[in-house]
Amino acid sequence: EPDPTLRPEARPEDADRALRPQGLDEFIGQAEARANLRVFIESAKMRGEAMDHALFHGPPGLGKTTLAQIMARELGVNFRMTSGPVLAKAGDLAAILTNLEARDVLFIDEIHRLNPVVEEVLYPAMEDFELDLVIGEGPAARTVRIELQPFTLVGATTRLGLLTTPLRDRFGIPTRLQFYTVEELNEIVTRGARLLGVPADAAGAREIARRARGTPRIAGRLLRRVLDFALVEGDGRITQAIADGALTRLGVDHLGLDGADRRYLRLIAENYAGGPVGIETMSAALSESRDALEEVIEPFLLQQGLIQRTPRGRMLAQKAWTHLGLAAPEKPGQ
Ligand code: ADP
Repeated sequence: EPDPTLRPEARPEDADRALRPQGLDEFIGQAEARANLRVFIESAKMRGEAMDHALFHGPPGLGKTTLAQIMARELGVNFRMTSGPVLAKAGDLAAILTNLEARDVLFIDEIHRLNPVVEEVLYPAMEDFELDLVIGEGPAARTVRIELQPFTLVGATTRLGLLTTPLRDRFGIPTRLQFYTVEELNEIVTRGARLLGVPADAAGAREIARRARGTPRIAGRLLRRVLDFALVEGDGRITQAIADGALTRLGVDHLGLDGADRRYLRLIAENYAGGPVGIETMSAALSESRDALEEVIEPFLLQQGLIQRTPRGRMLAQKAWTHLGLAAPEKPGQ
């Protein structure tokens, strides 16, 4: 069974916090997004206005929340955080919006999961900084308009495709976050080791970076686990041998795939001769939600060129057969 705390979407509260970069200069990677944000932040400060609304999309653990916090800090305003599923009623959002101070950053995680009624409230708030509240019920109901302080909404989503068009259109700054390169993760691990006060040699840090699934959250978590092994079974130093042994025991392979990733690949290989297989079939066979497959597992496998998405379903690429140590079946006509 895959270790759930090593999944990209797992969020044990305190673990990430110590490693979170505080300013735009400390934030490693996402060079293009960072350069653009720097301009928008500077411009908003020069104009003395709220920065335009921003939408961050991409797989979990790539730094959407971190970037939003950094934006607030760089803008010199408060950071308020909530999430789509938490905002059950229009009044929940209204309470947050009416408490914002001028130019504050409001972060809504999982914004694709907003209740449609709540989303309706958000439109005039984003566009005109106004809130239309319905007071009372039935024939006595009336609408009251409330002026809001200008604010910046930062939405985050793992599923851009699930956002309604009107909501999507109201973000002036849509930004896609990419998986990190090994170089970037190496910098993140090295910085993390320094912050945790752990001696890590270059090859040890690189081994963790290579196996972090392109994801800073995983890099941080693997670093802590490897540190445990280094302390208990080594001399406290993170070396390549310690990192390799620890990661292998944690079920993280040389490409950074974990048990859930390999189960996914093996299912297509062993039960469907390499595919194509439909997503619903995969979901049922793996007892994983379709969302989890599409948001967490598949993006990295696609990025690594291990699978392909075709109109008829998912297919294994040659690289996956090689990785699994299996021979691809001969297919007629190929
Ligand atoms: P998301 O909101 O996209 O799921 P987070 O912003 O919560 O991801 O990032 C997860 C963790 O990864 C953070 O707590 C932080 O420690 C680390 N992290 C993310 N991006 C970076 C980065 N660019 N440099 C260093 N650490 C990062």
